[in-house]
Amino acid sequence: MLKLVNLTVKYGNFEALHRVNLEVDHGEIVVLLGANGAGKSTTFQTISGLNKPVSGHIMLNGQSIAGKSPDKIVKMGIVQCAEDRKLFQQMTVQENLMLGGYVHRGKKSRLRATLQEVFELFPILYEKRSNPAGSLSGGQQQMLAIGRALMAKPEFMLLDEPSIGLAPLIVEQMFKSIQQINQEGTTILLAEQNANAALSIADKGYVYESGKVVVQGSAEELLANEEVRKAYVGA
Ligand code: ATP
Repeated sequence: MLKLVNLTVKYGNFEALHRVNLEVDHGEIVVLLGANGAGKSTTFQTISGLNKPVSGHIMLNGQSIAGKSPDKIVKMGIVQCAEDRKLFQQMTVQENLMLGGYVHRGKKSRLRATLQEVFELFPILYEKRSNPAGSLSGGQQQMLAIGRALMAKPEFMLLDEPSIGLAPLIVEQMFKSIQQINQEGTTILLAEQNANAALSIADKGYVYESGKVVVQGSAEELLANEEVRKAYVGA
């Protein structure tokens, strides 16, 4: 289980997260909702070790991980797929994927098997495996970013706005793939503006406002919550 306890994060004097509490159980899809700047990315960056909290705890399976280095956190099973995808545009699709598997370097058969799994999940990446990442469409680049995160065989995957900038049909496919990844055993924490689609595949969610969690509940509860619907579902 991944648990945030009273997590507070500052950038200089600005408090980006204020005493955030959050729990992600094994096997779940958990959604973080909230306007731009509400603190979702900061939550991910802090879990990933890119930001240090000023107070509070991040517990992974009962062990405190706050303050550990990002590469250690990847090795412990948490991998982030950032909003800006951070692909190496000149490198091929397969080279980008192999970089994601660096934690398993030296275990060639495991890397090959994982690469195979990613290609089965996203067949287009197999077709384009020798093309530069920069030549892919937006949706394909997002698949590549997710595929690269999967190469580390994470227990938890943090997905920051995977649907951003994608056409509606592609968004639908993306959410189906996320659901499949979850069904195959990866626990998912998903930050999304696309609340309806995200909640439709999620177990539960947290709504952020100005660095605080203001509403939390099961996906059904959030979808039925009038204020959440008005603000984020567009109904
Ligand atoms: P978005 O969808 O726009 O990424 P978000 O909910 O993920 O929104 P954050 O990116 O976590 O929000 O930002 C939370 C707050 O912290 C915002 O007010 C943002 O301006 C501020 N912030 C984020 N990163 C930094 C930084 N490196 N330095 C200073 N302030 C920052």
